[in-house]
Amino acid sequence: MVKFFLWKAANELLPTKRNLFYRKIVENPLCPICFRDEESVIHALWKCPAANDVWANGLSGIHKWKREGVDLLTLRGKMMKVLEKAKLEEAAVILRKVWQRRNTFVFYNRLTCPRRLLSTAIETLEDFKKENGRVITEDQQAIVLVNKSKWVRPAADFVKVNWDASLDLKNRRMGMEIISRNEEGEALLGVCDSRMNV
Ligand SMILES: [Zn+2]
Repeated sequence: MVKFFLWKAANELLPTKRNLFYRKIVENPLCPICFRDEESVIHALWKCPAANDVWANGLSGIHKWKREGVDLLTLRGKMMKVLEKAKLEEAAVILRKVWQRRNTFVFYNRLTCPRRLLSTAIETLEDFKKENGRVITEDQQAIVLVNKSKWVRPAADFVKVNWDASLDLKNRRMGMEIISRNEEGEALLGVCDSRMNV
């Protein structure tokens, strides 16, 4: 899920205000948290003062990096050069958590404490590693097989919609992601959302 999130972020497929504005879904491209700038993906995940609050408390190798003049690919490339593998994974989880924090603000008008976000990021990563370390059951093997299936383009003039959902049983949360693509494989729309108390 984190990899898919990074892929969407790098391809400007997150439903930021800027993206929704250019698709004529909202009337204002400004960041819903700081109102200082258009809410692009890099703004939401890195440049916004709200994201900055998280990163300033976060990974020691990168917490003092400049916020300006970067795009997500440059940022990720720089992280890959500087951070060891475990910290790089942590940075990826934090990026996703920063986006989820932004969503919680937009939908519930609540801004999670940065330190709490960082501790849940580490928990998420540890849970994920534990899950990965377990023996694969038959059910999980079936999931692996499904995941290996290749995306097949739709017929001309048709749009294919793929979706994915994940459940965090411990915290009773659910995440959903939907992407629609045309026959060329071009993404037309990508949306994601999360639900609490599932
Ligand atoms: Zn902002």
